Amino acid sequence: MHSVRIAIANQKGGVGKTTTAINLAAGLAQRGKRVLLVDLDPQANCTISFVDRQSIELSVYDLLTESAVEFRDVVMKTSQENLDLLPARISLAKLEGKLIGDFEGPYKLKDRLHPASSDYDAIVIDTPPTLGMITVNALVASTHLIIPIEAAYFALEGTQDLRETVKGIKARLNPQLDLLGVLVTKHDRRTLLSRGVYEEIYKGFGEKVFETTISKSVRLEESPAYRESIFTFAPASSGAIEYAKLCDEVMRRAY
Ligand code: ATP
Ligand code: MG
Repeated sequence: MHSVRIAIANQKGGVGKTTTAINLAAGLAQRGKRVLLVDLDPQANCTISFVDRQSIELSVYDLLTESAVEFRDVVMKTSQENLDLLPARISLAKLEGKLIGDFEGPYKLKDRLHPASSDYDAIVIDTPPTLGMITVNALVASTHLIIPIEAAYFALEGTQDLRETVKGIKARLNPQLDLLGVLVTKHDRRTLLSRGVYEEIYKGFGEKVFETTISKSVRLEESPAYRESIFTFAPASSGAIEYAKLCDEVMRRAY
């Protein structure tokens, strides 16, 4: 079986990137895939959803900036079977400045993940709400991209810039990169607004929009605080059912 590397990106903040990264990684691990979750966001939300901040010795920043640090020095096991984590710390914010003028800058993550790629069936990469060098690194290291879009006013705002960035990366740095799908998040079926927004997103992305949409759910908001994925925190909730459906769709599209 081949290995896939999926970046979750949208430079708009708060659209559900981290929630999607966590639950996609956990869901694929539950399905028996060996999964690595890479936290590339200095906010470190993925990281603290799985491990104690104090238990982190080295982070992905050290891996990307110190050649003496190796993948196995940084990777952490999580409490979930089949799921490993490359943790982030706030120091990752310094990476942008550090990579300026480095001609290997966009390839750092790809290079440093390479020795480990064959140990995993899926690598899921969470990114910050910017289109800077950190997100470029994620897109260069990935085979696929998922764009979460919040079902709200101005949903498509910024997606044109993201598409241009992806196009540029495909043309110059990573021809392999493929848009796996667009995920509508925080969907509220009861409102006309949400329905209108869904149609607008569909007009923009057509078949690329996942059939599964993620509803607004308090359970999804609460689960990271309990260090659990939605599947163990609230297995009967709409969020668990929908993220499980997303995992199935991702498996069909990516493998
Ligand atoms: P950032 O750009 O800051 O990294 P993000 O795109 O990673 O944000 P999340 O952190 O996943 O977005 O979600 C933003 C907030 O919305 C969080 O408080 C999260 O718990 C909440 N949230 C995410 N998905 C849902 C949902 N389907 N229903 C309700 N709340 C949600
Ligand atoms: Mg996030």
